[in-house]
Amino acid sequence: MASGNSLRVQQQADFARTLCHLILWAQQQGLTTTLGEVERPTILAELYSKMGKGIKDSQHCDRLAADLRLYLRGVYQEDTQAYARMGEQWKKLDKRARWGGDFAKPDGNHFEFIDEERV
Ligand SMILES: [Zn+2]
Repeated sequence: MASGNSLRVQQQADFARTLCHLILWAQQQGLTTTLGEVERPTILAELYSKMGKGIKDSQHCDRLAADLRLYLRGVYQEDTQAYARMGEQWKKLDKRARWGGDFAKPDGNHFEFIDEERV
């Protein structure tokens, strides 16, 4: 049986592969996407939390979240709604996939996996 650590690495690998599928899909749709923040050190997550931007135990700290940057006609999109098609596609790719646009405080460019046991 896999140890806790190797299970986590497998989740991270699944997340990375699924994120690639999302980026490829977006580019096939003509959506220009680039990478934003992926891994976030715990100390930075604590600082962000104090600043009211993000949570302390973010999935970014476990390399299970990524922020993508969407550009339409060369303009970076900050509005959650601009990411809705990507969010819907993301959720179709894996049962662990959650889109930040569905959060109580919407975060449209955030794409994450939740832990297996929470699915
Ligand atoms: Zn994020």
